[in-house]
Amino acid sequence: MNIPFNKPFLTGKETQYIQEAVLRGKISGNGHFTQLCHRFFESRYGIKKVLLTTSCTDALEMAAILIDIQAGDEVIIPSYTFPSSANAFIMRGAKIIFCDSKPNHPSMDETQLEQLITSKTKAIVPVHYAGVACDMGVIMKLAEKYQLFVIEDAAQAIEGTYTFSDGRVKALGSIGHLATFSFHETKNIISGEGGLLAINDDRFVERAEIIWEKGTNRSAFFRGEVEKYNWVDIGSSYLPSEIIAAFLYAQLEEIETIQTLRKKIWNTYYQELSNRSDTFELPFIPNYSSNNAHMFYLVFKQKSDRAKTIQALKKEGILAVFHYLSLHKSPYYKEKYTGASLVYSDFYSDNLLRLPFFNNLTSEERSKVIEIVVEANK
Ligand SMILES: *Cc1c(COP(=O)(O)O)cnc(C)c1O
Repeated sequence: MNIPFNKPFLTGKETQYIQEAVLRGKISGNGHFTQLCHRFFESRYGIKKVLLTTSCTDALEMAAILIDIQAGDEVIIPSYTFPSSANAFIMRGAKIIFCDSKPNHPSMDETQLEQLITSKTKAIVPVHYAGVACDMGVIMKLAEKYQLFVIEDAAQAIEGTYTFSDGRVKALGSIGHLATFSFHETKNIISGEGGLLAINDDRFVERAEIIWEKGTNRSAFFRGEVEKYNWVDIGSSYLPSEIIAAFLYAQLEEIETIQTLRKKIWNTYYQELSNRSDTFELPFIPNYSSNNAHMFYLVFKQKSDRAKTIQALKKEGILAVFHYLSLHKSPYYKEKYTGASLVYSDFYSDNLLRLPFFNNLTSEERSKVIEIVVEANK
């Protein structure tokens, strides 16, 4: 039995909508399907304004331009994340200040944030790892106190929520000044490559559209708001074609079905792996966070038990993979890093293992994975 780590899921309408986009005669960006996707996000998640992008990486780059990162500005991001969370800011000259993970979760430890803030700090980038919320109440309060921007890297967090201490529940991606999503084929909702910038602060709405359209006011021109369109700011080509938006909309329409499938797989993994071994622990979800069933991972106490488990699965043709390697220790950054050691980020680099997780994972496949994991950790 060969079980891959990920398998892209199709709802069935993708090619129909792509064909429709082609027949509509406008296949560049910001057409019919882009508008449908925008409306979906704005109404479902209570986000002020969204813009589809060609990737989450690009949405992060837009965010860095929007908050006007200058050389020497400091941006706080977790070390346990994907390089894109850092690259966007590095490319604009920022200094990255890496924050450690929490003892009980790979996400940024909000209790360590305040000591990392200096007079040069400009932004905090919480990454909602595995779609589990960072402690946004604490992070937003700190941002307010020190006048910082918060950019949520919600690449994995579609449909996730955070509950504030006063009981308000908000969608992840609707809380920070800006937020970014990914529709890469490994995420819950996919378009091959693709992403989205969420803008929750009015001050950024107008300029975001200009940066999105290569530094021109073309969007305002097409709405009839300006007489000619011009080069008005810096920008790049961040908008995806209608073909990608059409694919994405077919996925968004089926979000409930997709989430039901994923939650079922997640819950079964969780139940059937509970109390089966003391060599690993199961994912922890804080009370303030929902679970969007983005991924299922195990945290081993010993790196060697993780290696043993990977081998046992591999022997049966099953691919389980570890995840990030601490960015502060990466070949690109390790010489530049001058901060403290980040023990939990390193711990998750060494000890976290992701099990195969995709919407069409059958119950036989799932049982096989569970059986081998349990057997390898007796
Ligand atoms: C997937 C991912 C990204 C990158 O998304 P792309 O759409 O591939 O650019 C960035 N950050 C995190 C946390 C991710 O999981």
